[in-house]
Amino acid sequence: MKPQSVTVSLVAKTIFPKLGLSLKGLNSGVFSGSWSGSGAVLEKRSPIDGSLLGRVQQASAEDYEKAMTAAQAAFLAWRDLPAPKRGEVVRQLGNALRELKTELGQIVSLEAGKILSEGEGEVQEMIDICDFAVGLSRQLHGLTIASERPGHRMMEQWQPLGVVGIISAFNFPVAVWAWNSALAAVCGDATIWKPSEKTPLIAIACIKIAEKVCRANGVDPAIFSLVIGEGKTVGELLSNDRRIPLVSATGSTRMGQRVGEVVAKRFGRSLLELGGNNAIIVTPSADLKLAKRAIVFGAVGTAGQRCTSTRRIFVHESIKAEFVASLVAAYAQLPIGSPLEKTTLIGPLIDEAAVAMMQASLKQVKKFGGNVLCGGELVKGNYVTPCIVEAQNDWPVVQHETFAPILYVMGYRELDDAIAMQNAVPQGLSSAIFTTDLREAEKFLSARGSDCGIANVNIGTSGAEIGGAFGGEKETGGGRESGSDAWKAYMRRQTVTINYSNALPLAQGIKFGD
Ligand code: NAD
Repeated sequence: MKPQSVTVSLVAKTIFPKLGLSLKGLNSGVFSGSWSGSGAVLEKRSPIDGSLLGRVQQASAEDYEKAMTAAQAAFLAWRDLPAPKRGEVVRQLGNALRELKTELGQIVSLEAGKILSEGEGEVQEMIDICDFAVGLSRQLHGLTIASERPGHRMMEQWQPLGVVGIISAFNFPVAVWAWNSALAAVCGDATIWKPSEKTPLIAIACIKIAEKVCRANGVDPAIFSLVIGEGKTVGELLSNDRRIPLVSATGSTRMGQRVGEVVAKRFGRSLLELGGNNAIIVTPSADLKLAKRAIVFGAVGTAGQRCTSTRRIFVHESIKAEFVASLVAAYAQLPIGSPLEKTTLIGPLIDEAAVAMMQASLKQVKKFGGNVLCGGELVKGNYVTPCIVEAQNDWPVVQHETFAPILYVMGYRELDDAIAMQNAVPQGLSSAIFTTDLREAEKFLSARGSDCGIANVNIGTSGAEIGGAFGGEKETGGGRESGSDAWKAYMRRQTVTINYSNALPLAQGIKFGD
């Protein structure tokens, strides 16, 4: 492991004041137009060295109620503002995030353990979605549809939906908030955000920025409300709340199953972004240099803690031995250490529980007879060496998402078999093929190809752009966020028919009393 020259406390001391965070005092974990919090105090420790980063007063049930009431009131005023004016506020939010990009990136590193460039990359995603949303604010368009009745016009329009609940995971502690809240804001919605309790400080920093922008524009800042707390308390309040027409929840499949059920029971809508078990197929015609780079980045980037991390590869038997040996050699060169060091590529896992989960999965792999080709050791603290294992696709441990850098390697002879194995898992988020053969690429993208929400050719499984709709099938939850027409989930669709004739013709030619 590389030695550490930049300490957590030094970085925290420099950036906390700029982000409006308190190092020694208590940070309010509730924003409802003003800052408060009367729930239990959360001590946030950095995964980098275990040191105390800050203390946060979480939301009690009363705090939640206050924040929700404020968000609802803010929504009623916000929805009346023309969408391009809402877009102007979001444009300023994007600029404010730009100004603090370095500091925000650093706090993502301190709290989530991401390397600096990935921390900044996450902030860039927030900026990008703001830019996207600004353009969208002038394009929330419906359709005009041919009416079967003379003298009638039929159309479809989109109305603001209400207060959108956002539940987010630790590994994209702020991008997911921005994906949801920037779109929701231009759509005329307010948001109430319950971030991961593992990353509370960056959430507070972002809401402080949003608050400032709202105040400068005379907008009620409660359109960006915040309630920090645990899933089983604040998360449950939010999913059970009938005042919330849409809950967008990002996290594990287990969490999504619970939230999906609770929200459906009250006839709310949920947008679920859950676990993945992403695979790359490497064919004999592949550019192996590209494939190697994509697989290494996909499997060990963010220490294997991305929903789109590459977890399985299927390599054609004719090239498998040599290609896998080149991967093992590449793994041996990867610098592991503090994510605050510029040359580090692999930082820590989020906490001890994540380390234990990785160890437990590797134990299972060995029980099934898996061949560990490299890695899997605990270095120190939350730092582990990334691991490559020869395995079989139908082993329960391979079917399951372990949120750690374990890459399962499997061989194949026929492309149809590789595609079938790739699809034969409960999750359906991201997938890729490396090939220079047009027929193979097109087969992979055809109806009988990948069954995932994301299918790539000659790029890896992770690192999606915000312009496309993001999400996956099966146990990944079916939700779509970010680009394309994902905005429609944040609005209420309304079909409108206007009769400008002097008659009242009924649809389907029905005669009724005339
Ligand atoms: P997690 O499921 O433990 O927690 C996610 C969020 O859900 C947290 O805010 C948590 O407090 C909340 N939560 C937990 N139980 C809840 C309940 N009963 N009601 C309401 N909220 C509840 O996930 P995590 O460990 O933070 O993140 C890792 C997981 O997230 C992985 O499975 C990863 O694949 C997934 N993820 C998916 C995407 C995606 O877009 N598909 C993106 C990022 C992460």
